Amino acid sequence: MKQNGKIQTTRKYLRQKFVRVILAALGFAFLPFFLMVVLQNLFGEKVSQERKAASWLQESREDIDVSGILKKGWSATIVDEDLRVTHLAGDNMFGKDRLSVEEWTAFLCEAGETLGWDIDVAYHDGVDQYFLVLRKPQAVTFNISVFFNQEANHYRATVITFLAIFSTYFIALILFVALYSKSAARRMTDSVEDVSRGAKRLENGQYDINFGNGETAELNELGKAMLHLAGELKAKEEIQSEEEEKRMLLVSELSHDLKTPLASVQGYSEMLLGKTTDEEKRQDYLRMIHDNSVRANAILQALFTYSKLGSAGYKPVFETVDLCEFSRRILAEYVPRFEDAGFRYHFVIPEEEILVKMNCDLLRRVYDNLIENSMKYNQAGVTIGMTITQEKDAVRIVVFDDGVGIPKDDAEKIFTPFYRIDGGVRGKESGGSGLGLAIVKRIVELHGGEIAYVSSPQNSGCQYEICLPKP
Ligand code: ADP
Repeated sequence: MKQNGKIQTTRKYLRQKFVRVILAALGFAFLPFFLMVVLQNLFGEKVSQERKAASWLQESREDIDVSGILKKGWSATIVDEDLRVTHLAGDNMFGKDRLSVEEWTAFLCEAGETLGWDIDVAYHDGVDQYFLVLRKPQAVTFNISVFFNQEANHYRATVITFLAIFSTYFIALILFVALYSKSAARRMTDSVEDVSRGAKRLENGQYDINFGNGETAELNELGKAMLHLAGELKAKEEIQSEEEEKRMLLVSELSHDLKTPLASVQGYSEMLLGKTTDEEKRQDYLRMIHDNSVRANAILQALFTYSKLGSAGYKPVFETVDLCEFSRRILAEYVPRFEDAGFRYHFVIPEEEILVKMNCDLLRRVYDNLIENSMKYNQAGVTIGMTITQEKDAVRIVVFDDGVGIPKDDAEKIFTPFYRIDGGVRGKESGGSGLGLAIVKRIVELHGGEIAYVSSPQNSGCQYEICLPKP
């Protein structure tokens, strides 16, 4: 089940791709946070300690390092137990000298929510009791929007570098995800199509070739090409085995056909050699030897012609010839023979010129085989004829006689090599090789034409239709 294996592999491939994309995206997304944690652990302690209001508290509010706070660009305010406001450094964040309990409570509640600012409140519980309120500009605020407080001058360079790195990172991340998901999507589409194609082929009972790695789509094409090639090779193999079968049949037919004349030659020559017979018998035996050797020779000659016509290397020379003139000349040669043997004849050859690309010797052989068959298998009084008609792209030659004809059952097989219909009205032995019509068919096909036996409606006589293409 190669198809099943292919589908499994493609699923595995899709899963691997998906996991890889997710891991890569997560990796990219968490890398900066991971770096921040590391940096915070290395340097953050000092910074956060320093930013705490509690670290600036002193036993007496007078001793607070106001200049240190100012240097950092922060604001510092003291709020005492009676909620009186003493402004120490930076701008006055309350804008008044005394707060109501509500105002102070509201301030404490909202202190952590001021965008862009850190407000830290520390209470000093000693001889001098007071709140120290530190207001520090945040260097950077993680939010949907990035807010940079111009007053955080101290961190300007760090913030710009940080922002540049972060923007580059986000652009790279977006590009990476977009491009990677696009190519992954394309590969997935290919693979899904591949799977559905594979499934279809599986449904159709076809097989496919799977190389079991990621490049299934491309390999599928290769697989298809190989399947196509395999199909062609199989077809060729079938043709070859068919031809091989035909050859074997031909050889067995040939040996069968040669067996009789060669056995006669052997028998009569042994008789001649063995006993001294009278002169008359000697003459008979010699004639039999001669006739049978002529017959064996005719069969071998016909077979040689038939094989030559079918061999791949055989390339006859074709010339453009007027078929009507060519036919008239051959038929004229036959007329005395027809008249001598008592046959009637009927020819319809157009006066006009019909040009056909042909090999004159081969086409002559076609005419000879067909006309001589009509004479050989029929008695005197039979009409032998030929008509030539011109069609748009072809020329139709009909060779016919109104003699004994060919039985319906045999009509399909008469172009098969060595197929003969002997006996009956044809006489016991025609002496033919059974290759005449097979040779005719091969010659017509070499001319790019077709030949067919057409049974006449009255079922009498023979009619062959040859169709040759016009040049
Ligand atoms: P062969 O060389 O024996 O004549 P062919 O291939 O030419 O072989 O013909 C095959 C068979 O077709 C012949 O044995 C013969 O019986 C039959 N046949 C061919 N032409 C005619 C015809 N004009 N009239 C009657 N029978 C024919």
